Amino acid sequence: MILDYAGRRFRLAATLEGVDALLVTNPVNVRYLTGLDSSNAAVLVRADGSATLATDSRYIEMTKGLDLEVVEDPDVTGRLAAAGAGIEAGHMTVATFNRLGEGLVPTEQVVERLRMVKDEEEIELLRRACAISDQAFADISGNIRPGVTEREVARVLEARMVELGADKPAFDSIVASGENGAIPHHSPGTRELRAGDLVTLDFGALYQGYHADMTRTVALGPPAGWQREIYDLVAAAQLAGRQALAPGASVRDVDTAARSVVADAGYGEHFRHGLGHGVGLEIHEEPFLGPSRTGRLKDRVPITVEPGVYLPGRGGVRIEDTLVTREGGPELLTMTTKELLVL
Ligand code: ZN
Ligand code: ZN
Repeated sequence: MILDYAGRRFRLAATLEGVDALLVTNPVNVRYLTGLDSSNAAVLVRADGSATLATDSRYIEMTKGLDLEVVEDPDVTGRLAAAGAGIEAGHMTVATFNRLGEGLVPTEQVVERLRMVKDEEEIELLRRACAISDQAFADISGNIRPGVTEREVARVLEARMVELGADKPAFDSIVASGENGAIPHHSPGTRELRAGDLVTLDFGALYQGYHADMTRTVALGPPAGWQREIYDLVAAAQLAGRQALAPGASVRDVDTAARSVVADAGYGEHFRHGLGHGVGLEIHEEPFLGPSRTGRLKDRVPITVEPGVYLPGRGGVRIEDTLVTREGGPELLTMTTKELLVL
């Protein structure tokens, strides 16, 4: 996959205001702008689009073939800092800021705003990450059965994603069975799955740096009335949220489209987290869908839609897809059925 790093740096340069250059130190942003994936690098992007990358000797070999000037220095930030440059206030420590002295200008979210809209090459990587996730879920669904622990299910799911080509899991998988399903971010433990459980699996593959994110809730054996009721409710809310995804839509309105379905059914107090989040080089990135969020969606923004209903002491349901906003309707990247699977 050929990624246009120089084009990204020129687009960044065109957005700079009030600074001569931007000193980028967030490793994810350095990767986005140069292709170098490291734990110690910085890149200075000047207003004319030219750029210099600094990294230490461990990573120099990986910079061969990159399309910009490279300097070797373990003090990557000190080497590139220059009066009049913007710095990433969300990443630089106070200690570093104090050491480098006067003349640096704090900025926020400059590269993050650029990263929000993906190019088609990035979307293709996300499509592959999601395809691996779908396939892994299909391949291990036979392992979701009574007597198996949550941890064992998580382990086989994560191993299968890697066998199918994932770099690694995109995040620590959630497997929440029975009453644990009422905890939105439950860590898989030693509870054994039982007939009559709802089981929520929230997982995704990391593929060439891009994060898939999906959730399905399955039933072990025929669902009880309350289980079917909240499943159908969450599925309806998730559909309403997906249908509201459009370039130009406000992130708050998309959240409301799904949340109102849950609230109208009397379950509003059992759905307290935001509806979704952007995905890309990070598992959670701009934009965020929520009742107190502001801003509007653009075209080509990968984002999740993940409502849930959580009943303390009983169980829960969450359904999550990764999609991409498009003119003419969102593109669905996670294809696994949203019919209730009874295993
Ligand atoms: Zn998720
Ligand atoms: Zn998510």
